[in-house]
Amino acid sequence: MNKTEPSPPPPPQHKRMARAARLAAERPEMVFTGIAISAGVAIGPMFGTTEAPAEITRLRIQAADIAGETARLDAAIVQSRKQLNKLKARLAVLPEESQAEIAPLLDGYIQMIGPSRLVRGARRRVAEMLRSAENAVVEETEEIALAIQGQGAADAGTEERASVRRRADEVREIGRRLVRNLTHVPFRSFAGLPEGAVLVAEALRPADAALLDPSRLAGVVAEEGGADGHTAVMLRALGMPAVLGATGLVQAIRPGDVAVVDGGAGKVVLNPSPATLAAARRAVTAFARERQRFARLRRLPAETLDGEAVELQANLEIPVELPLIAQSGAVGIGLFRSEFMFMNRESVPDEDAQFDTYRGVVDAMGGDPVTIRVLDWGGEKDIEALTNEGIVPEIADVNPALGIRGIRLLLRQPELFETQLAAILRAAAFGSVRVMLPMVTNVAEVRAAREIYERVARRLRRRGERMPEKLPPLGIMIETPGAALAADALALEADFFAIGTNDLTAYTLAVDRGDADVAGLYDPLHPAVLRLVQFATEAALRMRMPVSVCGEIAGNPALTPLLLGLGLRSFSVNASAVPRVKLAVRAVEIDDCARFARRVMEQQDAEKIRELVAEFGKDRAGSRGLSPAAPRSPST
Ligand code: PEP
Ligand code: MG
Repeated sequence: MNKTEPSPPPPPQHKRMARAARLAAERPEMVFTGIAISAGVAIGPMFGTTEAPAEITRLRIQAADIAGETARLDAAIVQSRKQLNKLKARLAVLPEESQAEIAPLLDGYIQMIGPSRLVRGARRRVAEMLRSAENAVVEETEEIALAIQGQGAADAGTEERASVRRRADEVREIGRRLVRNLTHVPFRSFAGLPEGAVLVAEALRPADAALLDPSRLAGVVAEEGGADGHTAVMLRALGMPAVLGATGLVQAIRPGDVAVVDGGAGKVVLNPSPATLAAARRAVTAFARERQRFARLRRLPAETLDGEAVELQANLEIPVELPLIAQSGAVGIGLFRSEFMFMNRESVPDEDAQFDTYRGVVDAMGGDPVTIRVLDWGGEKDIEALTNEGIVPEIADVNPALGIRGIRLLLRQPELFETQLAAILRAAAFGSVRVMLPMVTNVAEVRAAREIYERVARRLRRRGERMPEKLPPLGIMIETPGAALAADALALEADFFAIGTNDLTAYTLAVDRGDADVAGLYDPLHPAVLRLVQFATEAALRMRMPVSVCGEIAGNPALTPLLLGLGLRSFSVNASAVPRVKLAVRAVEIDDCARFARRVMEQQDAEKIRELVAEFGKDRAGSRGLSPAAPRSPST
């Protein structure tokens, strides 16, 4: 039964849009802000879906009904399994990444109604407690869900809490499916939604995602849901513009209302004005074009026109970004900021909790390298758990950016440092890992850190822990002018450099990263910053030591030729920037970049450098990028 509203067949797309424009003129534009879930802009008529509630009318049964009730329960289990298998079969029409994301969830549901605690428990409630089958399912799933929630440590971090919530939701979800099948109240179907519609719902289940056809629907909006739930993950995997948490929208829509959904900004505009519509149309076209190019790009190597290979990796802040990284075409993680694990919790995570997180990331990267940066506390990065445990003072230093930061804190708090190193070393047994130290300014810090690193490794070996035979490389961030200018000395101590231009710019120009009053002075293209980048890069190259850039400038494709010209061949950037940087790499020749970098490095001021960068980009606009066999750019 299709509960999708409204039921009459929709008029063709052009008529709908014309009607929408008329209606839009009659009703004012309304903007709803929700949570940005999946990038892209959609324009379309909104279609709401409702679902009749499955009401449980009988709670208890007589002893004589036990056999019949158990048979009903078993039939509902069989029917649920069939539905889930059917959903799985439907996945074949979805893009590969969507399948990879959704199939394990459906498998999980199927497992839960196999020979599971849920099924045994529900049967027992029917037989021993004389519960109706529906009631038995509800009670049992709720008990399991609560037990899962109870397992989550009181001091769990945001990510851990989200994972616990997701697992508990999965159990409740399979319970709801069983109850629907027992009460014969069907699920809503999305089959009746007209092509190009925007689906609006109060709430969407993760399994609903398997029913959505991304080639027919323009976008998805729901009033409930958060950024880290299963539904969000599914919608992202489907690649449809989507916004969740858009409160008040369902109440506000009228039949035929048109909306613009901006999934990247988390915004829904109901009854868009002609100007909003025109801008949205341009955004839709640009996004579609870009997506096509990026999909093709993913399979192409990050190499210049003259065949120079470039390592293109992603920065990771929180593990929910992993699917985006997988889709981006990045080969590994060049900067895993481990701070998130310590945030939003009352106490510091122990070795096992940290190990689980690192292992999860290492596994997800399937053998591609993962560079884990040890805790970088200080400056603008405040962490409550560290204050709670007396690891850092309640009141920050007079000038926190110049106080106990990064490696300085870790060397003063060896227990904190050793716990993290131990967890990383254990995770390193499962993939390719590198360890990176933040905020280094002198060789003594690297030596001291290496001593601790080796001591932790020896201790783990004595403990019989599984570990890689050879210790993972221990590298450093170059993010202070001191480190950049001492790069030749540091290169003798460290195994690799990652140039952090965010802090390097701040410290070189004496500009606080978070101070709006001096934001105009924050300029990574300041010749002083570029000279430090050049000096550190050349020191590493002379030593044949790996060097990369992981600050924000690495994600700006306009600056890729300059960085290549300075000799850099490895970049770690936000997942969303990977395709753009790859395009930039594939559009240039190294000699050309080197000549360009030499010109840039002769300049005295950032404005002139910006002009040169813009000019270089303009000259090469439209050069190859996508096709491996495409002719070389005429300008090269
Ligand atoms: C940097 O400083 O450039 C960097 C990558 O580190 P973060 O932004 O985490 O301080
Ligand atoms: Mg930094």
